Amino acid sequence: MTRKIDTIVIHCSATEYGSRSLFKRWHKKRGWDDVGYHFIITNAYPRKKYWYNMTPDFSADGRVEKGRPVEIAGAHVKLHNENTIGICLVGDRTFTAKQFNSLRRLVKRLTSEYGIKAVRGHYEYDTAKEQGKTCPNIDMDYLRKLLK
Ligand SMILES: [Zn+2]
Repeated sequence: MTRKIDTIVIHCSATEYGSRSLFKRWHKKRGWDDVGYHFIITNAYPRKKYWYNMTPDFSADGRVEKGRPVEIAGAHVKLHNENTIGICLVGDRTFTAKQFNSLRRLVKRLTSEYGIKAVRGHYEYDTAKEQGKTCPNIDMDYLRKLLK
């Protein structure tokens, strides 16, 4: 590990559906060579068609997908990718208990593995405020208490 990681940044996809492979396609269109996040936690709609056909895949709810390798800096928070790990919850304003439980386990594991000092929401960064971002659409003081 060459980069020094001390912070986890929580995101949401701001979509009702999605998965690593879908975000990877979107991010590649932006000119990045891989998905910008290190982890993606899916809901019951990993594919767009499940959402539009109203056929949720409940087995996918709370699944943790590996995105970009942690050793490599992500592309998820402007000017703050060097020291952070990016986790994306699939969803806009609605998240499931399974997603939350997976998030809590993942944050615990990463915290002990990398000596994480802080868990922040994307919107807490000035660069995100400038972009008008409210991501992950969860109050972070509230979420940090729940993650303890
Ligand atoms: Zn974000």
